[in-house]
Amino acid sequence: MKKDKDLYDQKSTAWWRKKLTPEQYHILREKGTEAPGSGKYLNHSEKGIYTCAVCGAELFSSKAKYESTAPGLAGWPSFSEAADNKALELKEDNSLGMNRVEVMCANCGSHLGHLFKDAPDHPSGVHFCINSACLGFEPKPGEAKTKKVE
Ligand code: FE
Repeated sequence: MKKDKDLYDQKSTAWWRKKLTPEQYHILREKGTEAPGSGKYLNHSEKGIYTCAVCGAELFSSKAKYESTAPGLAGWPSFSEAADNKALELKEDNSLGMNRVEVMCANCGSHLGHLFKDAPDHPSGVHFCINSACLGFEPKPGEAKTKKVE
């Protein structure tokens, strides 16, 4: 994947303010979190690819999306794996008195959410907890879990 992070790092605050909604700016640029249960992709079950709202990089397949029941983590879109092992950048995050792993778009550096590796709510144990505000969506019927019988 082409890394555009250097390009995005050079953009001015004014550029980001114009590109993003105030809510997106707070989440993607200031590492904020959208209110639980509020995001547009939480209960979204179309087949396709979730992309980065800033740069369009493919981040998660709908095949990896699941409904989390984990206490405190059920209010945001949940994914069990990335679309590509180079799509995301992970970083230790000790803010707010918690030890978490921050998830960013590897291509542009935008904050996306957090990764929980001890999630009891998915067989893989891996839970990407992602803000809807950071995502776009491209429908791709080919991403359907089961093949249509002809
Ligand atoms: Fe991006």
